[in-house]
Amino acid sequence: MLQTISAANAIRTRCCQRIARIWRPRYSETAMRLSENLIDPQDLPFVADAFMRINAHGELINGTHFENICRFAEKNPHCSVALWTKRPDIVNRVLQGRDKPANLILIYSNPKIGHIMSKPPRNFDRTFNNVPAEQDVDRQNCTGQRCIDCMLCYKPANGVDTIVEKVKKY
Ligand code: SF4
Repeated sequence: MLQTISAANAIRTRCCQRIARIWRPRYSETAMRLSENLIDPQDLPFVADAFMRINAHGELINGTHFENICRFAEKNPHCSVALWTKRPDIVNRVLQGRDKPANLILIYSNPKIGHIMSKPPRNFDRTFNNVPAEQDVDRQNCTGQRCIDCMLCYKPANGVDTIVEKVKKY
């Protein structure tokens, strides 16, 4: 499990697609483990980080996966845990039976390129949208930034609920 969270950390701290690709296989393995069984909070890691990104690549697999992420966030209340997902169905089903951890920031990854979704779905804090480079340039508040300098996604209640980035070319 510690290894798992370290993988997510590597993606977050280096904020680099190349590194993310290297870590992706191990991260998938972790997601599978998190989705198999509910993990006792005492077996979840305590981390020293102030911010953490989850699912920069990959997706929520099921309710068990999301519940374990909630438990991880509760175990680390000092850490702002940002989760990107396209699965509000999973999130909302789980949150019918538990409170959302105060330090868990839910970001809806809008799958439709070029259609900015301004209002986050129920229980979500923000939307993350991709647009073609020439579209809505004045709304592209993510384009060209490094997370470590920006941190818009990670800060709770900062008044920004719509993130827009131009589609990256690799
Ligand atoms: S808006 Fe800022 S914090 Fe969010 S993904 Fe873009 S660069 Fe990172």
